Amino acid sequence: MMQDTKNEESGKNLWERPFTRDGLIDILNDDGAELKEELFRRARSVREDVFGKKIFAYGFVYFSTYCRNNCNFCYFRKSNRIERYRKSPEEVVAIAKQLADAGVNLIDLTMGEDPEYHEEDFKTVLEITKKIKDETSLPVMISPGVISESLIDEFAALGTEWYALYQETHNRELFRKLRIHQDYYERMGRKLYAKQKGMLIEEGLLAGVGEKVEDLADSLLAMERIGASQMRVMSFVPQAGSPMEHVKPVGRSLELKIIALLRILYPYALIPASLDVDGIKGLEDRINAGANVVTSIIPPRSGLMGVAQSVMDVDEGGRTIEEVRHILSGMGLSVASAEEYKEYIGILMLEHRREAREE
Ligand code: SF4
Repeated sequence: MMQDTKNEESGKNLWERPFTRDGLIDILNDDGAELKEELFRRARSVREDVFGKKIFAYGFVYFSTYCRNNCNFCYFRKSNRIERYRKSPEEVVAIAKQLADAGVNLIDLTMGEDPEYHEEDFKTVLEITKKIKDETSLPVMISPGVISESLIDEFAALGTEWYALYQETHNRELFRKLRIHQDYYERMGRKLYAKQKGMLIEEGLLAGVGEKVEDLADSLLAMERIGASQMRVMSFVPQAGSPMEHVKPVGRSLELKIIALLRILYPYALIPASLDVDGIKGLEDRINAGANVVTSIIPPRSGLMGVAQSVMDVDEGGRTIEEVRHILSGMGLSVASAEEYKEYIGILMLEHRREAREE
């Protein structure tokens, strides 16, 4: 009882304060049930004010698992001896069409930093992107890792709507430990360059990789500074064969609180409920915390993998749009149409260009 009373009191105080860095830290530090319930309730209410009962859904095509990097948290790091694949352009386009026919709102084209694509200046990936845009008429998000400014120009010229590139933390020291031998500022700079070129950008963070609660508060505030239109948080899942294999995993409460705080801080942001962490069974909690985009929808038996959970629910068909629709409908929600999604990001892009002109 004492615990509840204390939380109730601290919760009340917290709501009276603006969401300053200190206020965010207090909320992140408070794991009381009442605070969380109130936080999630507020987040859902903010989402409903902006998006009504509609949730967006993204198809995920992780088409090359080759990578030149060695991020310490990642299963697909170069040094990990795993089986890898690189899908042919025909396979990638066919999977994207299958996802489009099923009713997703966007195709997320994800790859490791595949040396073969870098070698050929991304010719194949540019062709795949163009073909998918032509054949599905859906918006496309590319997640290719760090690419050159001239390549960003080429993707922007194709009308590619999104560039996703995650720092995972905004603490430079921690970044150096996670993304070893990579340059924090180069990564951030390319993201900002893509934004300047009219692309929407997605920023992401990982929870449970050795960060302090202060770092998380800094990341929450950095989202606005960067101008991210989509803001992703995922719980770190220890990966077999990686240097962080034995790091103790965090519970999901932190990720859910961050989703809710992002929603309350940034009502118009797109905030993913990723199926990549806990599969389809993790969807409801993330939507209840205020997320408004279901990401990592994968067609069954497509031979594709997820990122954080490389095989969970993939072949069994658990990460399909049908399953997502079923769960959302039980929550009084539904998947938006492609037109509704295009209309929404159209508004974001207009706003984005207006801001760029004013800068
Ligand atoms: S996180 Fe991305 S860049 Fe880093 S090793 Fe994994 S696939 Fe490569």
